[in-house]
Amino acid sequence: LSSKSEILIAKEDQYGAHNYHPLPVVLERGEGVYVWDVDGKKYFDFLSAYSAVNQGHCHPKIVGAMIEQAQKLTLTSRAFHNDKLGVFEEYITDYFGFDKVLPMNTGAEAVETALKLCRKWAYEVKGIPENQAQVIVCENNFHGRTTTIISFSNDEGARKSFGPFTEGFIRIPYDDIDALEKALQSSPNIAGFLVEPIQGEAGVYVPSEGYLAKAKALCEAHNALFIADEVQTGIARTGRLLATCGNCSCEKGCSKTPEVKPDILILGKAISGGVYPVSAVLANNEIMNVIKPGQHGSTFGGNPVAAAVAIAALEVIKEENLAANADRLGNILRQGLNDIAARNPLIALVRGKGLLNAIVINSDEDSDLAWDICLRFRDYGLLAKPTHGNKIRFAPPLVITEEQIQECLVIIEKALNDFI
Ligand code: PMP
Repeated sequence: LSSKSEILIAKEDQYGAHNYHPLPVVLERGEGVYVWDVDGKKYFDFLSAYSAVNQGHCHPKIVGAMIEQAQKLTLTSRAFHNDKLGVFEEYITDYFGFDKVLPMNTGAEAVETALKLCRKWAYEVKGIPENQAQVIVCENNFHGRTTTIISFSNDEGARKSFGPFTEGFIRIPYDDIDALEKALQSSPNIAGFLVEPIQGEAGVYVPSEGYLAKAKALCEAHNALFIADEVQTGIARTGRLLATCGNCSCEKGCSKTPEVKPDILILGKAISGGVYPVSAVLANNEIMNVIKPGQHGSTFGGNPVAAAVAIAALEVIKEENLAANADRLGNILRQGLNDIAARNPLIALVRGKGLLNAIVINSDEDSDLAWDICLRFRDYGLLAKPTHGNKIRFAPPLVITEEQIQECLVIIEKALNDFI
């Protein structure tokens, strides 16, 4: 073992559970769109920790808010009030246009929270008989890794040997409005529909124009809750504050006129700019008020550091016009990728919205090609990760500039040319 990176990877290999398969690179510093490894090499980050670092690495305002709060008070649990929680709750509910928020820590916890909230609403407000509620979910969904969440996944690798599973889910094809209508009609016990506005882990699959609005209308007609998991798509990633937003001005609080207003909105990842684990579930009073003291919670959920960090992170999104930047630079990135595709037969398809994009490569889903290409990107100074053997996601921090996008396109083309 010669490099620092190799020594540290060997340690993880020996002492850590092997529950991930990271690209072999060990990072120790980040700033904006750049990260540096322990051997001093600099890279463009084209993953942003799965869209958590939208505001750029170590954003000084967000890190500053964390340090300032951490020196005063870090954790009280919810046994007592803290002086930041109410301020955060007022800020985020106004920001996204909901009555109430329930703060948690991770995306999966927020999804679990949304499912519990939906079920309780179904029994107490809709009047579904106890234990009979069904939630509709989509093929190829990704909502996290807890036992209940993998219960309704169709990723056999994620499920195998982890059963028995939680009941009460109906899975339908994504982007299929007729299938949703049939499922909603199939039983009087449908409590809600859980959907990713763009399927991220499925390889950045963008649904047809109007799908979300039609799905919301169908849910409304059947008195079922429309639950949007915007953990990956939210917080300006897709060129709008939320992917469920329509043609509104994102810089001015576009959530007030959304194309599709979810009944329950799930946020995580970039709600803290990747500085600290924060997630949240938002809903109006009719729904959120079904949760009573003692029925749901988390020791760290709503802690003052999380609250201070999230306020700063959400302010940065508006102050730096990151939704508009993601929209503009996303178009430039996809245009550049399509230009490369015209010259390089390896790229079969370019897709995405804002700065959540993917290329589909001409190979099998289980080939090693996408991985090998990502290793070559790394050699040339860009970090990206395959979602499948033939798909690579491109999701840089939203603070990236046009000049940097052009630099990255040169790296991407150079690496891809090595494989033809
Ligand atoms: N929902 C979606 C749509 C996600 O993309 C993810 C993470 N990739 C999650 C939920 C889970 O978030 P976490 O890893 O923070 O639990």
